[in-house]
Amino acid sequence: MSLPADYHMHTPLCRHATGEPGEYAARAVALGLPEIGFSDHSPMPQDNFDSWRMNLDKLDEYVAKVRRAQKDFPQLTIRLALEADYLPGYEAWIRDLAARHPWDYFIGSVHYVSDDWAVDDPQKVSEWKHRDARQVWSVYLERLAMAAETGLFEIIGHADLPKKFGHGPPPDCAPLCAKFLNAAKKSGCAIELNTAGLRKNCHEIYPSREILQLAFRTGVPITFGSDAHAPEEVGMNFVEAVRLAQEAGYRQCCRFARHKRQFVPI
Ligand SMILES: [Zn+2]
Ligand SMILES: [Zn+2]
Repeated sequence: MSLPADYHMHTPLCRHATGEPGEYAARAVALGLPEIGFSDHSPMPQDNFDSWRMNLDKLDEYVAKVRRAQKDFPQLTIRLALEADYLPGYEAWIRDLAARHPWDYFIGSVHYVSDDWAVDDPQKVSEWKHRDARQVWSVYLERLAMAAETGLFEIIGHADLPKKFGHGPPPDCAPLCAKFLNAAKKSGCAIELNTAGLRKNCHEIYPSREILQLAFRTGVPITFGSDAHAPEEVGMNFVEAVRLAQEAGYRQCCRFARHKRQFVPI
């Protein structure tokens, strides 16, 4: 099986990843990956927004690091991207970021269901005790649909992230999930198979088999991402992810160059 591109990986500039881009690239070459993309956590307009993203004054350094890896690894296609947080009201900021560099793609991710709580934050996992899981999932899926509708993102990241610590989606959230996937289809946005979920309490790829099957029936394209925060995580569990995609019906995935989409067989 030839492996697909790994489009989701971080750098130490986000303050919670280790290893330089060159080390991630070397790992990708060793695994025989054809292509990777760096998609570090985007800066927010205010640097103290949280503690797990790059500050705005690091953005140029980030781009320079990725460019350096591109030069050092000419045998590997390396894309320049960002994982941008989607919160309602931040559309203009994301557009501002998009205009700053010649990005290949943006992953739009919803981590925040309110201005001060990211559902996947390990420092704030106790917050789940005070929240109604159904309410969290509703807001999360509504925000995913909004993110897809903006047209600002080529890919929507880890589409069922609230399951990370074991809080699966309530069954009555299915219509909201369908609403999100229809929005993705309409705006031509892909979703990713993100293997980081296998390394978390949920022990499952994001998104679940059920969501992926519905995505296929809806006509939403896919990409693959390890969400690597260390070089050894590059391409992790990709054989399993490709198998899951194929079982859901997929025969191709997408790649992006300067926001232009191309389909490749899997
Ligand atoms: Zn994320
Ligand atoms: Zn990520």
